[in-house]
Amino acid sequence: MSGAAVAASLPEMLRRLKLTAMRERLDGLLDEAARRDLTLPEALALLCAAEVAHREERRIQMGLGIAKFPCVRTLEGFDFAAQPSLDPKQVRELAACRWVANGDTLLVQGPPGVGKSHLAVALGREAVRAGHSVLFTPAMALITDLTKGQAEGRLDERLTRYAKPKLLIIDEFGYLPLEPHAAHLVFALVSRRYERGSLLVTSNRSVSEWGTVLNDQVVATAILDRLLHHSHVLTIKGDSYRLREKRRSGLLKSNTTPAPAGASA
Ligand code: ADP
Ligand code: MG
Repeated sequence: MSGAAVAASLPEMLRRLKLTAMRERLDGLLDEAARRDLTLPEALALLCAAEVAHREERRIQMGLGIAKFPCVRTLEGFDFAAQPSLDPKQVRELAACRWVANGDTLLVQGPPGVGKSHLAVALGREAVRAGHSVLFTPAMALITDLTKGQAEGRLDERLTRYAKPKLLIIDEFGYLPLEPHAAHLVFALVSRRYERGSLLVTSNRSVSEWGTVLNDQVVATAILDRLLHHSHVLTIKGDSYRLREKRRSGLLKSNTTPAPAGASA
């Protein structure tokens, strides 16, 4: 076969080899290689780099889909100046995801609206980027699902599903008090994941209140014993970021937070 004929069959060969990015961008990449006067190995590296970048992007997009994040939140979009109780250096270190690789726990605690879920999603995205499987679930949905699984005699199956991802993110733990049986389900899940996968839990309650949240001091102690064995804590203080925006627009007076529902004035 002549050189020209081989070149003509290149797109078809790239298709069979499933080198999508190389095939789709072939003309542009070859033009670039010629323009930059690249040697043959350099030109080949340019083509491979395009394919590698494309696959990496596809892997990340798939991972983000599987993770089921409720919204798009990033570390770049987090305003550290608005949150002086957080150490940006600590957050950036966590973004490197060594804690996920190690199977550690990360607790993100603080009052409502201070950016706990934002950070959980942002760090979860970083974990996907770093190549880890991630699953995000609101605490209530998790417990409802486990309860349902137990009622159907399929608890083990559900536990396996939640034990699989390298990082499980449980959001808003403790907002509502749990039914007495729920503590045992949480314990079963934490035990199943213990020293295998990483957990990120966001909560408006400090760990000292988990006994109350779980309605069971003994089980809460056993859960925390496992969770806190290798753990990191981000404690966020201050006013709600949501209300801060409202305050700025003059809707609320400065430094007032609405009284909780049912509270007397
Ligand atoms: P929490 O989970 O602590 O209740 P969220 O993470 O849901 O709070 O934050 C409430 C809203 O405010 C979200 O839209 C979030 O993106 C935004 N937000 C909170 N803190 C910050 C911050 N420091 N910089 C940018 N956006 C923030
Ligand atoms: Mg939240």
